[in-house]
Amino acid sequence: MAGERYHAFHARSLAERDSFWTEQAQLVDWHRPCARVLDYSRPPFAQWFVGGETNLCHNAVDRHLAARADQPALVWISTEVDRRATYSYRELHAEVNRAAAMMRALGVGLGDRVLIYMPMVPEAAFAMLACARIGAIHSVVFGGFAAHSLASRIDDARPKLIVSADGGMRAGKAVPYKPLLDEAIARAQSKPDRVLLVDRGVDPGAQRVPGRDVDWAALRAQHLDAQVPVTWLESSAPSYILYTSGTTGKPKGVQRDTGGYAVALAASMKHIYCGNAGETMFTTSDIGWVVGHSYIIYGPLIAGMTSVMYEGTPIRPDAGIWWKIVQDQRVNVMFSAPTAIRVLKKQDPAFLTRYDLSSLRHLFLAGEPLDESTHVWISEALKKPVIDHYWQTETGWPILTAAPGVERTPIKFGSPSFVAYGYDLRLLREADASECGTGEKGVVAIVPPLPPGVMSTIWGDDERFVKTYFDTFRTRQVYSTFDWGIRDADGYFFILGRTDDVINVAGHRLGTREIEEAVSAHPNVAEVAVVGVADQLKGQMPLAFAVAKDAAKVATAEGRAAQEKEVMQTVDRLLGAIARPSRVHFVSALPKTRSGKLLRRSIQALAEGRDPGDLTTIEDPTALEQIRAALGAK
Ligand code: AMP
Repeated sequence: MAGERYHAFHARSLAERDSFWTEQAQLVDWHRPCARVLDYSRPPFAQWFVGGETNLCHNAVDRHLAARADQPALVWISTEVDRRATYSYRELHAEVNRAAAMMRALGVGLGDRVLIYMPMVPEAAFAMLACARIGAIHSVVFGGFAAHSLASRIDDARPKLIVSADGGMRAGKAVPYKPLLDEAIARAQSKPDRVLLVDRGVDPGAQRVPGRDVDWAALRAQHLDAQVPVTWLESSAPSYILYTSGTTGKPKGVQRDTGGYAVALAASMKHIYCGNAGETMFTTSDIGWVVGHSYIIYGPLIAGMTSVMYEGTPIRPDAGIWWKIVQDQRVNVMFSAPTAIRVLKKQDPAFLTRYDLSSLRHLFLAGEPLDESTHVWISEALKKPVIDHYWQTETGWPILTAAPGVERTPIKFGSPSFVAYGYDLRLLREADASECGTGEKGVVAIVPPLPPGVMSTIWGDDERFVKTYFDTFRTRQVYSTFDWGIRDADGYFFILGRTDDVINVAGHRLGTREIEEAVSAHPNVAEVAVVGVADQLKGQMPLAFAVAKDAAKVATAEGRAAQEKEVMQTVDRLLGAIARPSRVHFVSALPKTRSGKLLRRSIQALAEGRDPGDLTTIEDPTALEQIRAALGAK
């Protein structure tokens, strides 16, 4: 049977958990070996490699100096500013030491938080690794987020230092960061002591705040020969916080440990990605997302690979740019997202045959559902295995995947294959937490303890961690992914979408509540419902239905258009353009149940041209009629 070897590997990871993970732990360096593989005395909190001491920066950088100091560690390519730079492991080590010394000089110490709000520039990688080196906890915030999102993350993480830049570049246009950052700091209750700024020369108007803002280049010049010893950390010490959206307005700070994460990534590089030391990995994500943390920075470097860090879009200067990078850099492992492939699918297919892709072994895709036709298209175009795999910010590495490093199993289009080793995954019936049969849709759940590398808690809020993830079923304490899934007769899984109201735009998770709050910040919005609607390119797009406070302002088509534009600008300003609804329709009432609950699912169904479902509890049926009319539906 296909997959037999892999299934045995998976079974062993659960049945002989300690010996399995002890073996995987050999893939990284330990300053002190662990006393116990797992401490699960306080369910559902799991502590991996208890008593062990290690350091992510040592594993990603220092330990490679002996064998591969002159090998490129980081290749930075920017089609935005038309520049590239290569850093060998020796050079990366020097830059990380400088950055670590700079942080120390700015008062950052063990356990302090450093917020990194950066475009895709090498300094972002140096800053992350420098934090890891000195035991500071980084909180990287995606550069596309605006002041409000940033301010809420500043207040939650309370960073001592913020590392940022004058601006980013997007499709050839400068995107200033500094004004957003200044606005966010002004809004935040908790103020950072210092702001360290990389001046890229993309925003000459960027202003410095005297006494607070420090120039990266100037400070670096004072620390050129810095040698900052690695701070050895207990395995459970937090390495970073990464915020993600849920159903509430308040983003959750996913907290990751140190030792478990290092081991999980090292093991995934071997068993899943098949990335070997001396080879090259190209992950097209952004450092602001979990994929960027795990597979632009830590994973490939821990494995001793060369990591390609790319600033730009997939279609500039033309749609062949990524394949040219694969050819020129001899990329062996590539990792991207379905949306990007859907973008490429609309371009001239000749771009895919123009370059020598012989070095490429696999293309991995994740972040959102990969539709079957895109999966087929890219597989045929590349003539390489294209592996869909499924994971979340919370898990840090795949939950469902093929593991060609263990066994090359046949790919089923549209399926992220099997349960990753280490995960005791079940499909559960929503009603009573019993197990689903073959072909039956259920909630994708993980029986704890969660494997190494998966989040340890929500930053500063253990109770919220338990409540959010482990409270779905009354009878059973299991981790809910909030995704629906199904398993076919051959044991392959399929993900069928979220069980909650989270929207996934181009692989980026956005909470409906967050967007609703931003829309409501517009002075003329009394009430709003935001739903995620299927989109050909981006997977989903937010769509808003708002009730105006002053109905006169939306009485005419011109009035509605002007108000819609203003609402969109409000969302851009508060959350960033990534969260902007595709449309804002004005209605006089929103469909709700008699108990006042918004019927988001019904709105969503109408917007997608589906049956709105059971409406017996609706308070005012005309509200749904208005939605229908606004959508131009029959
Ligand atoms: P994020 O934490 O932002 O990466 O979002 C994680 C969510 O994205 C998951 O809970 C799924 O809803 C979705 N997702 C990620 N990867 C896949 C995939 N391969 N197939 C289907 N959905 C996915």
